[in-house]
Amino acid sequence: MSSDVLDIAAAVKKLASVIAPGALPAALHEPEFAGSDKEMLAACLDSGWVSYAGPQVREFESALARTCGRKHCIATVSGTAALHAALLVAGVERGDEVLIPALTFIATANAVAYCGAIPHLLDSAPETLGLDPDNLVQTLRAMVLKDGKNIRNKNTGRRIAAIVPVHVLGHPTDDVRLAEIAKLYDLPLIVDATESLGSLRDAKPAGSFGELSVLSFNGNKIVTTGGGGAILTDDDAIAERLRHITTTAKQAHKWAFVHDEIGFNYRMPNLNAALGLAQLARLNDFVARKRRLAAGYQDACQALPGLAFVSEPAGTQSNYWLNAVLLRRLEQRDRMLEALHEAGLYARPLWELMHRLPMFADAPRSATLAVAEDLQARILCLPSSPKLATP
Ligand SMILES: *Cc1c(COP(=O)(O)O)cnc(C)c1O
Repeated sequence: MSSDVLDIAAAVKKLASVIAPGALPAALHEPEFAGSDKEMLAACLDSGWVSYAGPQVREFESALARTCGRKHCIATVSGTAALHAALLVAGVERGDEVLIPALTFIATANAVAYCGAIPHLLDSAPETLGLDPDNLVQTLRAMVLKDGKNIRNKNTGRRIAAIVPVHVLGHPTDDVRLAEIAKLYDLPLIVDATESLGSLRDAKPAGSFGELSVLSFNGNKIVTTGGGGAILTDDDAIAERLRHITTTAKQAHKWAFVHDEIGFNYRMPNLNAALGLAQLARLNDFVARKRRLAAGYQDACQALPGLAFVSEPAGTQSNYWLNAVLLRRLEQRDRMLEALHEAGLYARPLWELMHRLPMFADAPRSATLAVAEDLQARILCLPSSPKLATP
């Protein structure tokens, strides 16, 4: 057999051997409820404060701000809502273009569309899987037209309003470099860190970069509140504005219902925050076990020439939210997926690229999306719950 052809049966056996005994079948990412999860929920119910006025929301926000090295945190009902609100306060308006990677979960593109804006799709860097700084610079150079204090896409005439890198599978992008580029073009950087809570870039938390960054606590994320999200920022005025628009833009008053703009019912309920507090207390443990699982998969791949483990980018420490392998031979992908599923490893490919979905088929894009297309075709995500790690 040529050295890049994978022996599928041997590969599946080897990968399955990494997982703790008795843990198969395993979905891609199952939550783990233990410790004080139930007590925190029960205490919240007993207190009667189940909606967003409760004390646990504030506590959860403070704990998140601390964890991510940020001044402010605003917890929301979902990561998608967090992205939407972050784009709005960053000044994204109807008819603008927002630079996002083509390789991302649909929420990033949807949030742009909720603003009435258009996603402009960029290519990925092979080492981070996320937005490629070189492709960003090339795209900006090729299309930018200065218009007073704004910049426009000279091909569409639309204003460019923001840059949104995504930490794909938990691996941080090069946000130091991306922030420099954003500054050069006077664009806000909004980091979609929904998958990277607990990851570090240059020893700094993944959520600490950009004017704004966004987290998610969906059931499949590393820390879950059932559903939920958060927005992080160091800017006092932006934080205040976020608190306002995520709570129906209601003016503070003892009894009057006066709202001064069209706001959103986006604030996280206290019940979810109570679970979040208990979960967040175990973040370091989750990361440690997920990294142990990652080391096991990585080790297994060393003996499998047709398969490369997707490891953390240089300069980062990843939470390995989802472990992934890259197949050398694209034509083996579906047979490999079948075999993994048969063995109880419910592996999945990456998301369909945004420009291949009907809603975004006409979205403006960089001259090439070749890296994103290649990664999307050949990467398989493996079951990655912390509870799959051998003790
Ligand atoms: C999970 C996720 C989100 C947010 O999703 P919600 O389910 O709304 O919390 C956004 N972007 C990416 C890349 C994600 O993985």
